[in-house]
Amino acid sequence: MTHRTMIWGFVVSFFCLLAINHTFSAEVSMKSKNDETSTTPIASIIPKPAKISFGDGFFAIKPDTIIMADEEVQKEAEYLADVLQPAMGLGFALKVQLRENMQESNNSIILKIDPLLNALGDEGYKMSVSGERVIISGAKPAGVFYGCQTLRQMLPIEIFGDKKAEGVDWKVPCAEIEDQPRFEWRGQLFDCCRHFFSVDTVKRAIDLLALHKMNRLHWHLTEDQGWRVEIKKYPKLTEVGAWRIENDGSRYGGFYTQKEMREIVEYASACHIMVVPEIEMPGHSIAALASYPHLGCTGGPYKVANSWGVFTDVYCAGNKDVFRFIEDVLTEVLDIFPSPYIHIGGDECPKDAWKKCSKCQARIQAENLKDEHELQSYFIKRIDKFLTGKGRRLIGWDEILEGGLSPNAVVQSWRGIKGGIESARQSHDVIMSPTTHCYLDYDYTSISVEKSYLFEPVPSELTEKESRHILGLEGNIWAERVSNQDRLDFQLYPRLTALSEVGWSPKAARDWNDFDVRLNTHLKRLELLGVKYGKDEMGPILQDAQLLGHWSANQMKMEGVELEWDATPFIKDAGKYHVIFFYKKGASALQIEWAALLENGKEIQRDTHQGWSGAVKRDIVFTFLLPERAAGAAYAIRAFGIPQGDEDSNGDVLIKFDE
Ligand SMILES: [Zn+2]
Repeated sequence: MTHRTMIWGFVVSFFCLLAINHTFSAEVSMKSKNDETSTTPIASIIPKPAKISFGDGFFAIKPDTIIMADEEVQKEAEYLADVLQPAMGLGFALKVQLRENMQESNNSIILKIDPLLNALGDEGYKMSVSGERVIISGAKPAGVFYGCQTLRQMLPIEIFGDKKAEGVDWKVPCAEIEDQPRFEWRGQLFDCCRHFFSVDTVKRAIDLLALHKMNRLHWHLTEDQGWRVEIKKYPKLTEVGAWRIENDGSRYGGFYTQKEMREIVEYASACHIMVVPEIEMPGHSIAALASYPHLGCTGGPYKVANSWGVFTDVYCAGNKDVFRFIEDVLTEVLDIFPSPYIHIGGDECPKDAWKKCSKCQARIQAENLKDEHELQSYFIKRIDKFLTGKGRRLIGWDEILEGGLSPNAVVQSWRGIKGGIESARQSHDVIMSPTTHCYLDYDYTSISVEKSYLFEPVPSELTEKESRHILGLEGNIWAERVSNQDRLDFQLYPRLTALSEVGWSPKAARDWNDFDVRLNTHLKRLELLGVKYGKDEMGPILQDAQLLGHWSANQMKMEGVELEWDATPFIKDAGKYHVIFFYKKGASALQIEWAALLENGKEIQRDTHQGWSGAVKRDIVFTFLLPERAAGAAYAIRAFGIPQGDEDSNGDVLIKFDE
């Protein structure tokens, strides 16, 4: 980034900070025909449409406005009514009527299929808003659905609330839009293995993807730390493999029944989202081995892993039972998931066990393979053949490229974009999700929102023909450090918002400063939807705070460190005190586990919650209530922090008296 853009970025951010105090930023005042002034966030649609032009005036949704739809898009019309209803309230009995039974009338939102729009593709749409009506049309229902998402974002922000918003005029600015996505694959990887997430949280993830016009949920369902898919033929996978014993002795886990997974597939399908299951092999498979030990090279016993990392126990590639098992599992998986694609992982498979296993060595001999790497390739090819025979396409992480693949297989590039380039050159389709921009479980200090936004999925090294193999991208959320929904929100958003625009908008239309302005409006939407996104909003908290001390890189220890600061000079009266941990510089954020108030060396209060202080800050304020200021007593603040990444973390600790 040049200095110039940095300064410009700062000016824009600063302006937004001011603007947000008054009204939602990026709103534009518009004059209606009768000179009544109304504000509508016309410039803040994310992802940015390919073509949009605004006219004069607006369409007002009134209690008697009707949603009219072709039979083919009746579901989309019902979806639209469902998402508009809560904030508009019961007064708006948005009725869905089939268009064929009546003329297109005024005061209506019309959804229709128009075969003439084929040029916009299956997901493209046209939208026309006049004072009299809104018409959303597409060649296919998916396009109409995305038009509905755009319409939501053209309404006042309050439409995203879950309760009736009083005193809001539901106006949509007059506009002509022609829009279609740049990439066909716009996804999120969701790891539900390292930590387990409820069916409701998965559905909520789907809702948020739909809002961002994303269309793939890559569902990571099996791991060393937990098997999450009910397989009827192998009940131990969920009786044993879905549960791990944590270090403190507690039992952790969970799984999805086939019925629940079908329900999620159907829910996603109504949002035009394809659910792509990932069943890991040959590595990342200890949970399966713990359930059925004969599938491993040594025969076990194995334990479902309760720590993170790459483990050396993997499926035995010399055992025919392993292939029978995997094919049985996949057969049930294919029945649950109609997705044309099945992800089989294929990454991070150490060869240690195979080297020592007589069955694996016999397979190498019998199949005339050079070494264990070729044995891995044999394994993947065999599964590839099975899936291809069932009419599905295999996806694997870029390791599967080693040793050759069927032309049908899709490669997901994660170790940078190198694997993606190589795959495209070999005519394999590619999904881009390099750790550098798309690993949303990483700290904001290493992948900022801007960095995600600046990701370009098509490497400049590729020719135009090769670049057609880049299907699109995914934002990945691995869940080692993501144990609940709030943390999930924090890691995903707004970086996935940034990636949604990378996946949808034309390359030429992408502009960070412009996005940053629209993002401020969009964050208000996310707030109303209850999304606990990660974004730095520290200004008001720091006001009137005094410097208590610092933390610095030379004090840090990777396993965590207890630090203490003398607070005696700042504790003058009984009352409420806030202590704020404010990261300043260094490669790592500090995760604060708790902070305590000490009186004469004795802890008298502790605030235990997880704070995060990096470039992005969250829950960094710890609060204490001092009932009485003991005369002559010494006070101190003690805290336990864990640096995230390495020990290079530096910041200020501030204290603030509050009445
Ligand atoms: Zn073996």
